[in-house]
Amino acid sequence: MICELCFHRCDLSEGQTGFCRARACRDGMIVPLNYGKITSIALDPVEKKPLRRFHPGSKILSVGSFGCNLRCPFPDIRLIPDVQNALPR
Ligand code: SF4
Repeated sequence: MICELCFHRCDLSEGQTGFCRARACRDGMIVPLNYGKITSIALDPVEKKPLRRFHPGSKILSVGSFGCNLRCPFPDIRLIPDVQNALPR
């Protein structure tokens, strides 16, 4: 099955996980593995976000899950996709 969610267009066989490690082929469907699973949560300065001109000096809640369709060199991002291996299937 072809996942059409992003430009990678992964061609996944039954049980296979996509490049992002967040979507997989299960029972003939492409399903999100990270739905409802939080891997990071933090209170950040709003200046870290594209909203930096919105209430300067205030905090913003950042919530994220595992999986990414890019391969950036930043260590914290590289570690997050491995979290899924520790989760129950
Ligand atoms: S990287 Fe993930 S979202 Fe993108 S096509 Fe592959 S499985 Fe789908």
